[in-house]
Amino acid sequence: MDVDDSRAPKGSLRKFLEHLSGAGKAIGVLTSGGDAQGMNAAVRAVVRMGIYVGAKVYFIYEGYQGMVDGGSNIAEADWESVSSILQVGGTIIGSARCQAFRTREGRLKAACNLLQRGITNLCVIGGDGSLTGANLFRKEWSGLLEELARNSQIDKEAVQKYAYLNVVGMVGSIDNDFCGTDMTIGTDSALHRIIEVVDAIMTTAQSHQRTFVLEVMGRHCGYLALVSALACGADWVFLPESPPEEGWEEQMCVKLSENRARKKRLNIIIVAEGAIDTQNKPITSEKIKELVVTQLGYDTRVTILGHVQRGGTPSAFDRILASRMGVEAVIALLEATPDTPACVVSLNGNHAVRLPLMECVQMTQDVQKAMDERRFQDAVRLRGRSFAGNLNTYKRLAIKLPDDQIPKTNCNVAVINVGAPAAGMNAAVRSAVRVGIADGHRMLAIYDGFDGFAKGQIKEIGWTDVGGWTGQGGSILGTKRVLPGKYLEEIATQMRTHSINALLIIGGFETCDRIKQSASGTKRRVFIIETMGGYCGYLANMGGLAAGADAAYIFEEPFDIRDLQSNVEHLTEKMKTTIQRGLVLRNESCSENYTTDFIYQLYSEEGKGVFDCRKNVLGHMQQGGAPSPFDRNFGTKISARAMEWITAKLKEARGRGKKFTTDDSVCVLGISKRNVIFQPVAELKKQTDFEHRIPKEQWWLKLRPLMKILAKYKASYDVSDSGQLEHVQPWSV
Ligand code: ADP
Repeated sequence: MDVDDSRAPKGSLRKFLEHLSGAGKAIGVLTSGGDAQGMNAAVRAVVRMGIYVGAKVYFIYEGYQGMVDGGSNIAEADWESVSSILQVGGTIIGSARCQAFRTREGRLKAACNLLQRGITNLCVIGGDGSLTGANLFRKEWSGLLEELARNSQIDKEAVQKYAYLNVVGMVGSIDNDFCGTDMTIGTDSALHRIIEVVDAIMTTAQSHQRTFVLEVMGRHCGYLALVSALACGADWVFLPESPPEEGWEEQMCVKLSENRARKKRLNIIIVAEGAIDTQNKPITSEKIKELVVTQLGYDTRVTILGHVQRGGTPSAFDRILASRMGVEAVIALLEATPDTPACVVSLNGNHAVRLPLMECVQMTQDVQKAMDERRFQDAVRLRGRSFAGNLNTYKRLAIKLPDDQIPKTNCNVAVINVGAPAAGMNAAVRSAVRVGIADGHRMLAIYDGFDGFAKGQIKEIGWTDVGGWTGQGGSILGTKRVLPGKYLEEIATQMRTHSINALLIIGGFETCDRIKQSASGTKRRVFIIETMGGYCGYLANMGGLAAGADAAYIFEEPFDIRDLQSNVEHLTEKMKTTIQRGLVLRNESCSENYTTDFIYQLYSEEGKGVFDCRKNVLGHMQQGGAPSPFDRNFGTKISARAMEWITAKLKEARGRGKKFTTDDSVCVLGISKRNVIFQPVAELKKQTDFEHRIPKEQWWLKLRPLMKILAKYKASYDVSDSGQLEHVQPWSV
């Protein structure tokens, strides 16, 4: 069960947690194989959730090596020992490759070391190798115990008492190479690193005419290469799952020279480390460079990103993902029975779910097998729906068919940006324009929002006009926060003048992961940060989860002076320990009277002598900067879908000889769980709280208890009758 999941109905949470008591249980947590950003967030979540439910939690240092060596490699964790690690890359408990654990002898030693501490619950964070090892260990467990008893290393009672080993895995791997989960821990951060490098290269390369060949990690999996290519609009991408057709050398050179002819100064080619051709021969970055230099004579540079991709701070997404997974992992361990197979906690359509570990490992190995046997279509299919979708979108946007091969629809489709500029908007426009052109429409750009629309600032926009738009912040078309109401007549006139058959409105996006906070230091200090969002507390809440905030005040969960008081008191207590940093987030409209200044002054006064306070109103910084890889791809994909929808509607309308008469001809496109849905505006109206401009139901509110559990300092917990965790102490730590 997932704390954020509806399986914990309100009111029964107390019962739910009672049945989940971890008293008398010991959990070991280790990180194994290659490290990945976000592993620390997972370790922190396991430790804190474990302590929260009354279990003992042990760090196992240096992966399986520490388990085999025992001694000080296995040490009990406490609440503070995972403080301030959320923002640290890598893994603080160390990771290693361990030959000894591959042998039964090594595993026997490991079992003995675990038993000395009564550990019969294991939480392994690593790749498929590490998880396979854990599964084997679990299967052998009773045999190992008997052998230890025969050797008189443990007694008969211990064999009975510790008869079962529960195993749960979390996939930490920057490659996103594991079947069964949408994202693995570390992948999103690795994408951030790659995109930072591409953005940096783009700025220097604009001054020269150059071709860049960028090699990214992924010996067996092309996820990083594919998604980076989508996020930066690369000219060509090489993946192990989808080798280029024979004759690719010539095709690629033609494409590069065409781009040059269109005055594009920079070509970017992305290569996965494990890229191959249809004969399974490696395609290396050097080989590509050689080809471009000999065939085209272009100045070509190779950049191999290597370990940079594993480095740096974990992204907000990875922190939240790992925190959710860690909590779910502890619950899975507590719920395990002798018959429960080892499971892996994974993300499925924004839900933390459990899947049988070995099935996922098997599926992952099947992808490799398909590639080895040159069944590449199977390989792409086995990687999952979203991989295939990404590949499809990339191909549609990267390669333009010659004009004479596109059947024309004689429809004019206009694109407009409205509302506040948000990172990812330009990627959305680029995608809409290109998909629209590929579908045979004439694409029109409307500048400066509804204001510009009314004034007729409308121009045709072509395929190359939107080149390089994915990485740009703000809105290139321009946007104004003007509502169309007062201009309706002028807009209607413009629609007639320009014969606009369909209109794609891009606006109202909120950027998802611009909140960053590096509030660490040596002095005891509490940071009070105000986030944007109108009445919507999403940014404050998710930012709070990602940054390990002590409290996040939001409009959706009313609070009063007693809550503030208990938060301050709790924080004051907490700051008397070794913890030196406090973080409080406040959504800009969470309360009319408990303003950021008020909260700042309250905390300053009450914290006198214990900590000092700083406040920061993030303001427009949150909307600025280059868009994250997520926002670029989200903008790209959703807009491509919107355009497909428009094309289908236009076709339908033509069939009936009329234009746009159906009820659902005005829709908002969004994502709910795994699915892209088109929701008629009329329906959406019923679900919207117009006064506060937020949806009546917000999925992320379910993550509130999770933030509170992970932030809580005192190990005792209390659940109010309403089922709200700790509303008495709504926090905190
Ligand atoms: P990853 O977990 O990232 O796939 P590896 O495949 O290198 O990385 O595995 C990490 C460690 O997990 C190995 O060094 C070894 O200790 C253990 N391990 C991997 N495969 C097995 C296995 N089949 N049996 C036992 N232990 C294994």
